[in-house]
Amino acid sequence: MKIICSICFLFASCFVLAQQKGVDKNFHVYLLIGQSNMAGRGQLDAVSKEVHPQVLMLDQGNNWVPATDPVHYDKPAAAGVGPGISFAREMLGNDKKTKIGLIPCALGGSPIKVWEPGAVYLKEFHPYDDAIRRARLAMQQGVLKGIIWHQGESDNDSARATVYLDKLTTLINRLRTDLQQPDLPFVAGEIGYFNKVNHINAIIHQLPQRVPTTAVVSARDLTDKGDRLHFDAPSARELGKRYAAAIQELQRRNASKAALLASGKKKQAKQPVVVLTFDDAEISHYTIVAPLLKKYNFDATFFVCEMPRKSPADSVHYMKWPQIAALHQMGFEIGNHTGHHKNMTKLSREEMQQEVNYIEYKCREYGIPKPISFAYPGNRADSLSQVVLQEMGYRFARAGGSSYYDPVQDGRLVIPSYTMGSSEKLGARTWSALKSLQPGQILIFTIHGVPDIAHPDYTTSVAAFTEHLHYMKQHGLKVIAVRDLGKYIPADQKENPVTKPLKNTYE
Ligand SMILES: [Zn+2]
Repeated sequence: MKIICSICFLFASCFVLAQQKGVDKNFHVYLLIGQSNMAGRGQLDAVSKEVHPQVLMLDQGNNWVPATDPVHYDKPAAAGVGPGISFAREMLGNDKKTKIGLIPCALGGSPIKVWEPGAVYLKEFHPYDDAIRRARLAMQQGVLKGIIWHQGESDNDSARATVYLDKLTTLINRLRTDLQQPDLPFVAGEIGYFNKVNHINAIIHQLPQRVPTTAVVSARDLTDKGDRLHFDAPSARELGKRYAAAIQELQRRNASKAALLASGKKKQAKQPVVVLTFDDAEISHYTIVAPLLKKYNFDATFFVCEMPRKSPADSVHYMKWPQIAALHQMGFEIGNHTGHHKNMTKLSREEMQQEVNYIEYKCREYGIPKPISFAYPGNRADSLSQVVLQEMGYRFARAGGSSYYDPVQDGRLVIPSYTMGSSEKLGARTWSALKSLQPGQILIFTIHGVPDIAHPDYTTSVAAFTEHLHYMKQHGLKVIAVRDLGKYIPADQKENPVTKPLKNTYE
């Protein structure tokens, strides 16, 4: 006890000094929030008492003290080993310069609905307000570098799970606003696979697609302490390491984004960018779209294929190769959509190569340069198709997913897009995506026929299409082809483009 106290004293005096000097940029603080598995319920053991000179925690009295388990004080009788300390140690690695400060604010049993301003939990706690207050206190001395969140067991039923993602999205946005860090890394953890039912994990997995600079860590292979609810101490520590790896990846992306902005590309990204892509070699691309685009002086990419015909009469709905060549001569980009609109995820490596080669062969025949942009038929992409496209010299490949394209987060071989259309659902989504577009953001549209006689579900009326072009012109949006995306992509993405494919990319 004596030893611990004198260490406390040493740390305390260090931090009195630090406080006088203001924020120490080598003091990285992290907010720990959620419920019991973040607070820690693993059995305390000898390791729990080991002190690392560079790992501190903010105690209940708001003092920085050496971190030991239990880090949390929410339920003193139950508190044990959580992911916090192993997270901090993993974040440090061999770094001798940095200190890590943990801000424990998790509360056992707290449902997500109490994680909002003004909410009270168990009479004495204000989960959200306390977390903000303590984070701000910590930020007087250190730099807030991320939030780790483990929660969900109290919302783990079918009714609550359906609203969980919306609530979590609101919470993250609010935390970032209140802490004045719009890009603050946020990592959520899966709940244990040992829970009797699990409605939450599938929902949490959608988070990274919904909210930028977030990640989810897996709880696979982690074990419970026998209650089918709480991680045992070794699993809690392993979870902490997984949080660290995810936070480091988000921090790397933020750094990469910052470097890109600093490298003078800022100006280029300032203007909102729209990329127009047209799929399936519809005849209206030649008869209606190209003349309209010329009128507005907009560039575009036409992803062509030879769509299998249901009957010979169907041919009238599609362009013939001389018409495709004419689009090239007008200055538009011709991209590859496979020879015969094949689902890439169902093909072998050789079949993929054949389908991609077919369009290259036809392009050569008609004096069109070898395409460098590709669009996945049906927007279905997998890792192998990315590898094959990379090998075959494709620089960009477009998928679906209905999100903006973030060149730092998204692989350039699974570029997300919004499908434009006149149906009620597509129409509303298209307009909302276009009107919400901010400077620095890139919106890619996938457009079928204008109008589309063969596929009425994906038709865009000429009136609606013209209205979109008019809006883009009026609002000074930069409208480009896929081939011009290179200048928005950071260097490390150029080298390592293959990433996990997007989920649910069909639209
Ligand atoms: Zn298609």
